Amino acid sequence: MYGKFKDYLTDALNQIRQDGLYKHERVITTPQGPALRLQTGEEVLNFCSNNYLGLSDDPRLTHAAQQALQTHGYGMSSVRFICGTQDIHKALEAAVSDYFRTEDTILYAACFDANGGLFEPLLSEEDAVISDALNHASIIDGIRLCKAKRYRYANADMSDLERCLKESQAQRFRLIATDGVFSMDGNLAPMDAICRLAEQYGALVMVDESHSAGVVGPSGRGLAEQFDCYGRIDLFTGTLGKAFGGALGGFTTGRKEIIELLRQRSRPYLFSNSLPPAIVGASLAMFSILKENNDLHRQLTENVVYFRDRMLAAGFDLKPSRSAICAVMLYDARLSQEFAARMQSEGIYVTGFSYPVVPRGQARIRVQLSAGHHRADLDRALAAFLKVGTELGCLAPRKA
Ligand SMILES: *Cc1c(COP(=O)(O)O)cnc(C)c1O
Repeated sequence: MYGKFKDYLTDALNQIRQDGLYKHERVITTPQGPALRLQTGEEVLNFCSNNYLGLSDDPRLTHAAQQALQTHGYGMSSVRFICGTQDIHKALEAAVSDYFRTEDTILYAACFDANGGLFEPLLSEEDAVISDALNHASIIDGIRLCKAKRYRYANADMSDLERCLKESQAQRFRLIATDGVFSMDGNLAPMDAICRLAEQYGALVMVDESHSAGVVGPSGRGLAEQFDCYGRIDLFTGTLGKAFGGALGGFTTGRKEIIELLRQRSRPYLFSNSLPPAIVGASLAMFSILKENNDLHRQLTENVVYFRDRMLAAGFDLKPSRSAICAVMLYDARLSQEFAARMQSEGIYVTGFSYPVVPRGQARIRVQLSAGHHRADLDRALAAFLKVGTELGCLAPRKA
């Protein structure tokens, strides 16, 4: 049997290569951080990780992880409700609730699981889920697992959302689901308008804070803080794998009855292992660092403004954004691949994105800034952008 299947796989793989969509892993031999060494020996400055607050290699977190290993062991060998809940898991759930100013929190092994286990326990065929067209794959998959009627609105388009709300009035409950920051443009979901429409048409609101928590808002606490929507968003999901230390783990946080029902019914919570103590201990240290002061968020914001201002002044075409994602628009797919390759020869690690990850004719370089970048790192990246941009003739905005 395998022979035929192998031929089929080989064809599929060849097609992926031919389409220019083959993904290669670049092997790093150092910890994740603003500067990396690759297995090839190349040293690069890193502008394509989600390490927004620069915490991935923070010694306070590695120390806390080591301590938790000592006090709470290596693995949990259980799901939460059998014998996988330690005092530190409860403390971490409380720390997440405190950070987002919510009533209760449930931890998952990843945000992919938080989203995968969110919709099915809460909604049935009598209900509606209304989803932004650019939502993350895990939200899309989570929605697929539930029987609610599905509606989709164009990215951050409030009149289209209103259309969905009107069309779904016959359903019992409506839930609007959106990413907080959309990962390709770095744009924010307009939460004030979303909450207003939700109240007008009777809908619940869910926001995935994976790219926004720690980043967006006056002190980095995400969309509710940015748009002053506290109390109007029913539930948030998020990851511990981006700004919050970058290891692994996810959560859903929000109204207490919702969280309580998820603890009874959410399948990735019931049937998948507890987070290991090292991650839980480090995450607790991370939240206490963020509670002490806003230094990391202030540094990140400073870096974003510094970088964006200089890129715009140099004549690059940037998507407007208030997040740590900076989309440098090149429009042409080949140009974006060539640009990224030349940046790597200049020692700058950035990613080129083209169709089908972004719409056709919307190819770009995505730059992700971090509080861990020093001014000299930003200057080196800017110099490389200027050099490559000049060589490839992309300094004046050019629409394909
Ligand atoms: C990264 C991301 C996830 C997945 O998070 P993991 O914890 O890595 O599974 C989910 N949703 C959004 C919006 C993301 O950006």
